[in-house]
Amino acid sequence: MENLEEAADVAIVGAGLPALALAISLQERGISTMLLDSRKSADSFPRGFTLQPNGLEVLDKLGLLDKALQTGSKAEVFEVRAWDGKILLEADYKLLDHPQNYLLTVNATDLDMVLRYKAEKSGAQFVWGTSFKDLVRNNGQLTGLKFETNGALQETNTAVVVGADGANSRVRTLIGSKAEAQKYRDSFIVGLVGPVSGFQGRARQYQNPGKMLGVMPASPTITYLFHCVGKSSFDQVKAAGMEKLKAEVNRVAPETVEALAGMETWTKLAFFTPSRVLVDRWVDNGVALLGDSAHSFHPHAGQGLNLSLQDALVLAEVIEKAVTSHDNSANFLREYETRQRMFSDVIGQHADYSARYALSSNWLIRRLNRRALNKLQKNRRLLKEALEITAGVFQKKPSLLKLARIGGLLP
Ligand SMILES: Cc1cc2nc3c(=O)[nH]c(=O)nc-3n(C[C@H](O)[C@H](O)[C@H](O)COP(=O)(O)OP(=O)(O)OC[C@H]3O[C@@H](n4cnc5c(N)ncnc54)[C@H](O)[C@@H]3O)c2cc1C
Repeated sequence: MENLEEAADVAIVGAGLPALALAISLQERGISTMLLDSRKSADSFPRGFTLQPNGLEVLDKLGLLDKALQTGSKAEVFEVRAWDGKILLEADYKLLDHPQNYLLTVNATDLDMVLRYKAEKSGAQFVWGTSFKDLVRNNGQLTGLKFETNGALQETNTAVVVGADGANSRVRTLIGSKAEAQKYRDSFIVGLVGPVSGFQGRARQYQNPGKMLGVMPASPTITYLFHCVGKSSFDQVKAAGMEKLKAEVNRVAPETVEALAGMETWTKLAFFTPSRVLVDRWVDNGVALLGDSAHSFHPHAGQGLNLSLQDALVLAEVIEKAVTSHDNSANFLREYETRQRMFSDVIGQHADYSARYALSSNWLIRRLNRRALNKLQKNRRLLKEALEITAGVFQKKPSLLKLARIGGLLP
């Protein structure tokens, strides 16, 4: 086994966006960082990201907000429309008392480049095409990790390992943290297509029982589409043909006709079935979990990445204290979980019920959903309270009473 000479204070398994944000923040605090990823380089899964105010605030703190604004498309109003085009709700982000009171939709690859460039410039080391294998411990204390590149096993010393290795995290398995995955019934096609006109600072979502279609401008030339295909598999959607898919989308959202006209192959589209992963413990001696390895939500709420960015800054602060006080114990690192767990619980629950409500074919739930949207459209105070949760800018756990009012269960 080879020993990698250049050890880092912190080794991050996975080089996704939350990992990059953590690396930048640690490097800026003088903590050396190494990121290891099994991908050969950053990939280009064709999708967009919607950044909410909590995620935008993190980009601002990292000095990257202007760059992100240059690549993406800003929306102040998120429209929810019925399948026939009738507006059900205009969620106005300007109601929020927050400096970033808007949404920003970006091409995921562009955002990745913005963060990766800054992480590299700030001195973070990257090891691509390598697979994390094991944690190294001495008398229960973490001392390093093992990873494999081109069949050769290597080991490096480090004070802290961060498992930012996604929803099926190996780091999480190795620390014995239990994860309960709940798969949702409906699948989605997502993709980046041509421009749409007439949006002027708006993003749009169409809803019908069992259906959902998001149309989100992601730049002057790109639109991010998010389309529910129910229980169909990707093979079934492909077998039915590209023209059928285009016709389905165009019928509901006529503004997409030109955006989809030139699309001939499936390469600009991806397929996924969301799941929610509930994780019982985010820290262990010398180890912390970040991103989808700690929590994974239904993307309907657009918060998986946003909350993970927020987590990354808190984790950087806690790791800095751990490294300077030479205490990487679980007790010390637990501050990170204690501070962020409430946000994950509230947002995970919100993502779950809002996706189930929006997609349900049950007449009672459908009526409740319409009633809730109608109430929010009429009551700006209630809309503001609901938006604070969606935008991830609430400070304390909302009461059940408040959630019941927002959900249309109580007047
Ligand atoms: C279609 C879709 C749309 C979404 N839209 C939004 C949105 O609009 N807003 C939002 O906030 N969130 C959104 N999300 C959620 C968001 O994508 C995730 O929460 C976020 O990207 C998680 O990042 P991560 O780095 O934790 O995980 P990942 O992006 O999965 O990265 C994990 C990394 O770890 C690496 N890895 C795994 N195992 C190993 C190993 N053993 N060794 C080395 N490397 C390893 C992988 O190669 C990968 O690069 C969306 C999700 C999906 C699927």
